[in-house]
Amino acid sequence: KGDPRLQAISDAIRVVPHFPKQGIMFQDITTLLLDHKAFQHTIDIFVDRYRDMDISVIAGVEARGFMFGPSIALAIGAKFVPLRKPKKLPGEVIAEAYELEYGTDCLEMLVGAIPPGERVIVIDDLVATGGTLSAAIRLLERVGAEVVECACVVGLREVKGQRRLNGKPLYILVEPR
Ligand code: AMP
Repeated sequence: KGDPRLQAISDAIRVVPHFPKQGIMFQDITTLLLDHKAFQHTIDIFVDRYRDMDISVIAGVEARGFMFGPSIALAIGAKFVPLRKPKKLPGEVIAEAYELEYGTDCLEMLVGAIPPGERVIVIDDLVATGGTLSAAIRLLERVGAEVVECACVVGLREVKGQRRLNGKPLYILVEPR
């Protein structure tokens, strides 16, 4: 807290009211990607936090977890594992469904991507209800991975306040505006 980089990150995220539908305040991180300094700060903060935590895997949630995860993985010497929407990954996969506001969605991971006992950080752009990250945690725990923490650029005050998800710590940089 009190880190001036956090204000720069927050300022670089564009808020789009009523996208993709009425009532949603969409937090658009593509404008953060356009701001080299703020993007670099975002990666730096995660890298500083995770570099000495013996993390061997960064698992990114499709699609916006893919925009932050690989840079962090490379900087800390970890591998990157994509957690994908259904029917994108070839070969044997495991799947976990999760609730959306209307209906359900699903994340898949390739079998064999992560040997048991590896220490994993799950990354996405934003946590709202936590449903997506919970599905990611379940996937990883099914293969015996140790989910050390979930990390998001943006998180709602309520979920930030609880700071845990499925019993796992949650690390968030900024709140939505
Ligand atoms: P949840 O599963 O409810 O925590 O929702 C998080 C997922 O939905 C993330 O993958 C986000 O990218 C996306 N998402 C939910 N709400 C928003 C929002 N207001 N702005 C941008 N992305 C969102």
